[in-house]
Amino acid sequence: MIRALRCAQSECEKMIEATLAEWKKWFEQNRSDEYKIFGRKDEEFEDEEKFTRLWNVQDGKPPEGGEEFNSKAWRKRGKIPSPGLVLITTAGQSPLILTNESRRIKSQSTNRNKKNEKKGDAPTSRYLKKPYQWLCRDCGEIFSAKKSRIHCVRNPRQKATVSRQSTAWFEDYLENIKWTYKSPELLPLNLPGVIEDANALALAERAGKMLEEILADVEMTPPEYFALYNEKTRYLRVSDLKDKRKFARVIKNIAGWRKLKMRPLHKAPLGMIEIGHAFDEFLTDIFEKISSKSWGPGERVRFDCEELGVTVSGTPDLMFEGVPVETKTVRLFPHEVPEDKNQQTIFKYKWKNNYAKQAALYLQGVENDFMLLLIISRESGEFTLAPVDDSAMTEMQSDWVEWAEKFPEQLQEYRQLIAEENQARSGSDKSQSGEEE
Ligand SMILES: [Zn+2]
Repeated sequence: MIRALRCAQSECEKMIEATLAEWKKWFEQNRSDEYKIFGRKDEEFEDEEKFTRLWNVQDGKPPEGGEEFNSKAWRKRGKIPSPGLVLITTAGQSPLILTNESRRIKSQSTNRNKKNEKKGDAPTSRYLKKPYQWLCRDCGEIFSAKKSRIHCVRNPRQKATVSRQSTAWFEDYLENIKWTYKSPELLPLNLPGVIEDANALALAERAGKMLEEILADVEMTPPEYFALYNEKTRYLRVSDLKDKRKFARVIKNIAGWRKLKMRPLHKAPLGMIEIGHAFDEFLTDIFEKISSKSWGPGERVRFDCEELGVTVSGTPDLMFEGVPVETKTVRLFPHEVPEDKNQQTIFKYKWKNNYAKQAALYLQGVENDFMLLLIISRESGEFTLAPVDDSAMTEMQSDWVEWAEKFPEQLQEYRQLIAEENQARSGSDKSQSGEEE
């Protein structure tokens, strides 16, 4: 009791985030120098990993900025922590509960996989039947063929028909959906890149209200096809510049992939993954039907990444009064499930590592200082628009410097291949470059 009192009064109880080494020291000073650490099975811990502390009932009220934890810390008491947690323990006391974003996200995805496995009736992928479906990137025709072949001037994009289960999901969804614009105030605070500029906010609100009206009048049907995602790309994409692990995977393999003939994919996802992809297609279809002076299709942007010495290009989904708009869907907004703190963490993680970075990259290729992110809840139809600037660039640029040092030969080989391709092409007038994001 005395120990607890002493600690509650001291500054030490206020520590929220620290490396594992610092937490160990903290534990020695405040609890006991005899302790055990529990994480994943047979895990070896890195002292540098950063952890955030969570406060359970025994720990008392968390300090400002600290997060409460009102759930079970152990899956198997004294043996296995609940998913996503690392526990430091000593006999006779409640454990110090630690976690971080990446552990929480990993635990969510493994939980989801386990649930699917348990059900048994919900496989996560299916085999596609021959002939496969393809979409010409130039004329827009959908055609069947056993193999990829050039239609107009480019390799087509492979498509899959939407499965019966997912079509049923869309039918049900469309019967109940109400598209509702919400102010970006509903978003978690302090998202990287979100700007408070009054003009930008006014533009976002105008776009949102107009879109709500437009969507109320558009006839909506379930999507028939969706684009299959093939990591084996011929060109570095915007998405490859956002994530270190993905970049490493792509740059190590891209020269090899370029030598291969593009093989058809034999499998397509099912369940929420399929619905996510099909939803993108569904939105594209809807936005193609929109005829409005203010809203229109996005225009392709190119970005020369000096640090890596490569050029990537991509196309934001839409344009509103000259401002590019990128669409992202989430299952639900964090404010729709306030009791689930994980959703908030995951949303912030995606925003920082994906949305804000993508916006920053697109902004390098356009005149504007900001663009709009249109975030849509797939379950409720609520959506919001937030003006975002390119402040995520700083972190990415320092990442790229690091990557360029790590993969100099691979980058050089890729640059060489692209240069050769451009040279071969400059004779012909089939001028185009790169696949799209
Ligand atoms: Zn064509």
